[in-house]
Amino acid sequence: MAAYVHLTGSTDLEKPMPFNVIKPVLLALENRMGWRYLIFTPVAAVVLHIASASAWALELTLPERAFQGDMIVGKVDPASDIWSGSKALSVSRDGYFVIGVPRDQKSDVVVLAKKGDERIKRTIRIMAQKWLIERINGLPEKTVSPDPETLRRIKEDNLRVATVRTSFLSSPALFVDKGFVMPLKGRISGVFGSQRVLNGEPRSPHPGLDIAAPGGTPIVSPGDGIVRLTANEMVLMGNTLIVDHGLGVSSIFIHLNRILVKEGDIVSQGDVIAQVGQTGRSTGPHLHWGVYVGTIAVDPQRIVPRR
Ligand SMILES: [Zn+2]
Repeated sequence: MAAYVHLTGSTDLEKPMPFNVIKPVLLALENRMGWRYLIFTPVAAVVLHIASASAWALELTLPERAFQGDMIVGKVDPASDIWSGSKALSVSRDGYFVIGVPRDQKSDVVVLAKKGDERIKRTIRIMAQKWLIERINGLPEKTVSPDPETLRRIKEDNLRVATVRTSFLSSPALFVDKGFVMPLKGRISGVFGSQRVLNGEPRSPHPGLDIAAPGGTPIVSPGDGIVRLTANEMVLMGNTLIVDHGLGVSSIFIHLNRILVKEGDIVSQGDVIAQVGQTGRSTGPHLHWGVYVGTIAVDPQRIVPRR
């Protein structure tokens, strides 16, 4: 996507890919020696293992730096407690945990791991992004400056979605095996993080990725997961679907034509889950795909393989 790279003012090559990079490294190490030995030289591991099966030191695998809008996947001894700042995080049975870096995060992220008397503190340097300004005109006025009744319904929709997102923070880490792929092939018509000016009025940043495609085009699940919400006719989002990928990571798909799954369904990466539409506030048929860590929106383009 040359246009995207040009418009953001930086090249993707300069950016680390915390999820995509850390994953293959971890898998390679796991395949070779089992992850608990990740942190030792093989000799030290063997010596300690003989001394006591539970005596390995606490270790924390994290990238040294990440960008605003990144999803960071770390690994730790699963018996540890772990915090990002003052927020306690869920750790999967395999020791994975996830941190969402907000679009406007200014300070570095401090991660603390604790197991018994052992503690490790690590700082992840957060790199600033340059965000686009997108002007969108011709939207129906009632969706840009809604009347009080419509505004009440929008708030209700948003609360419903936020409640769903925070209801499965400790789900199993379903996304870890396969990672994520694009849910749809098509022209990128809106990128994450852009400052939107709707009908001339500045609004909140765009919290996802827009992919334009003809109405009815099949959308596949970008990762393994469980369907947590299917809702029709939300005011701005139209027909809306949420898939839980585990550890608080979720995808939201909005403006759908048809939803082809139901709440509670287990979906695999690549399964058809819905069709492109233009329900809700939309100027044409497209998919809005949002990825969240808890309630923090992260950049979907940074978790899929580069094209
Ligand atoms: Zn969008």
